[in-house]
Amino acid sequence: PCVDEDSCDYLFKTVLIGDSAVGKTNLLSRFAKDEFYLDSKPTIGVEFAYRNTKVGDKIVKAQIWDTAGQERFRAITSSYYRGALGAMLVYDITRRGTFENLKKWLHELREFGDRDIVIVLVGNKSDLVDLREVDVEDGQKLAQLENLCFMETSAKDNMNVEDAFLQMITKIYEIAS
Ligand code: GDP
Repeated sequence: PCVDEDSCDYLFKTVLIGDSAVGKTNLLSRFAKDEFYLDSKPTIGVEFAYRNTKVGDKIVKAQIWDTAGQERFRAITSSYYRGALGAMLVYDITRRGTFENLKKWLHELREFGDRDIVIVLVGNKSDLVDLREVDVEDGQKLAQLENLCFMETSAKDNMNVEDAFLQMITKIYEIAS
């Protein structure tokens, strides 16, 4: 059900997670740019944006939360995950450590997230070919193992960003409808 004032058929809360500086904020601004407003919540340090998309004949409003840097302080709380139907788990293909940390993020998702939460694994910064430290196959293997959707993106070049979000939203829709 859609509880927002302007018309839509569904409202889905989704969250962005992953290490600092992997590109979460830039992925969000890429996706949300057209129809977007960014709400600052300085008191709790969370920002989110909306974007409407059409899935079949329904209008789905995705409310996408960004950590606003909280992950640096290990301060993401259960309220961040509460009610989230989807999560975009982002690492940086040029920093191996951000890939290794995915285990920690998956653990946290399973602890705080909804049981049926749709997870899309995203290897961002695919434009930085010369700096790559994580092979595409590594991402694919992990996704297969953990039963996640997977995509490499570039927020900079606008590669696969739309696809990654739409995949998440469509998957949620299939479960929710
Ligand atoms: P966050 O901390 O995860 O929200 O990461 P940001 O969105 O703030 O991005 C961190 C840095 O990575 C910034 O300097 C961005 O300009 C850069 N960045 C983000 N996405 C990309 C990308 O796809 N390609 C490249 N080359 N740089 C990116």
